[in-house]
Amino acid sequence: MRALAVKTRQRDEMVDITRQVAALLPELAISEGAVHIFCPHTTGAITINEACDPDVAADMLYYLDKLVRHDDPGFRHAEGNSAAHIKTSLVGPGVFVPVEGGRLHLGAWQGIFFCEFDGPRNRNVWVRALPAK
Ligand code: ZN
Repeated sequence: MRALAVKTRQRDEMVDITRQVAALLPELAISEGAVHIFCPHTTGAITINEACDPDVAADMLYYLDKLVRHDDPGFRHAEGNSAAHIKTSLVGPGVFVPVEGGRLHLGAWQGIFFCEFDGPRNRNVWVRALPAK
């Protein structure tokens, strides 16, 4: 397992971590199988989506914010970041990505994103290789 450091700069942000994950494959010694990419935080998540047009990520953040209002007066959690916890569960803590020929086997437009919902913060992402037999 390897840990990636991700520094976020805004309260809500999607950071494309595809290159950092790909760069770990040689040291993870995997050529066929999959990698599991996991976020060990309760206000951050991992997803795969279009990494070509940055407006896709912007629209996702816009719409998640519309669905889960940061300033909803009904929240009880004293830390004041309930919207971030809810967005984190909606998006999910991790993804599996197939590895073929020593490379991430993603679709042409896909990228792997760390989703920040309570930034800015210094975050970690755990990457584990699951080699095929
Ligand atoms: Zn909290």
